[in-house]
Amino acid sequence: MYVGRFAPTTSGPLHLGSLLAAVASYLDARSQDGQWLLRLDDIDEPRARAHAENTALTTLESHGLEWDGSVGRQSDHRDRYWEAIEELRKRDLIFYCTCSRSKLKNKGPYPGYCRTQRTPPSDPAAIRVLVPNQQIGFTDRIQGTVKSNLANKEGDFIVMRKESIAAYPLAVILDDDLTGVTDVVRGADLLENTLAQIYLIRTLGLDAPRYAHIPVFNQRNGIKLSKRDQAYAIDNRMPVLNLVSALHMLGMNPDEEYRDVHELLAWAITRWDILNVPRQVAITDFISV
Ligand code: GLU
Ligand code: ZN
Repeated sequence: MYVGRFAPTTSGPLHLGSLLAAVASYLDARSQDGQWLLRLDDIDEPRARAHAENTALTTLESHGLEWDGSVGRQSDHRDRYWEAIEELRKRDLIFYCTCSRSKLKNKGPYPGYCRTQRTPPSDPAAIRVLVPNQQIGFTDRIQGTVKSNLANKEGDFIVMRKESIAAYPLAVILDDDLTGVTDVVRGADLLENTLAQIYLIRTLGLDAPRYAHIPVFNQRNGIKLSKRDQAYAIDNRMPVLNLVSALHMLGMNPDEEYRDVHELLAWAITRWDILNVPRQVAITDFISV
């Protein structure tokens, strides 16, 4: 049974890049008679906003992207995050890091300053996981083989921020595991982070989902769109046009006669083939239709 999901961070309205991930994960799930779950990545308290959550839901609804079951929330999984930290701690795989941002600036992979700090210090500390000096890899359905040595990238990476908020790679693998997700379809900006996720999945003995990383949509200057770019927030008054644009970027060719999102999505489900998605990590410029 296929279980897919869309997991927007609720710090602002959805933009075209998020719609792309929503549409791709939706079509991949529905074309395989799978479930499609919606989870709000809302643990980043200062940035999570009720208003943004509502507009995200409204955008999905107005685009005909109907999810299964109730809306999930990362903030419901906090206990599980700490359980995993505890497991890693027992296995002596984590340490407490009190390095300031400036101390680590331009240092490349984490230099290991706090590695011997195996018990929590009195000041708030981030928790890092020890990473081995070896290649780790996986096969992405779109991007092919992805591999690298984590020790040469970020090094020992943060799994719990000093504010006691689970870091994204730890949170996401546990969220997906808890909800039985078998397939992750999301933006290629997360491709490299996926290696850290795979490392945690294997270390914790979880089942890895299959992955497909779609191109991210960039602004003209090549900068990834962020939720703060209001200019690119999705206009819910023209959902068919938005979907047609998204489908073009995903390598599909809908004609322009669809007046209704349901009709358009039904067509797209029957035609969906993930191998038609451009195998590139970024699309720059708006592709007009
Ligand atoms: N919440 C993350 C984001 O909006 C995506 C998480 C994921 O799909 O793994 O960038
Ligand atoms: Zn440190």
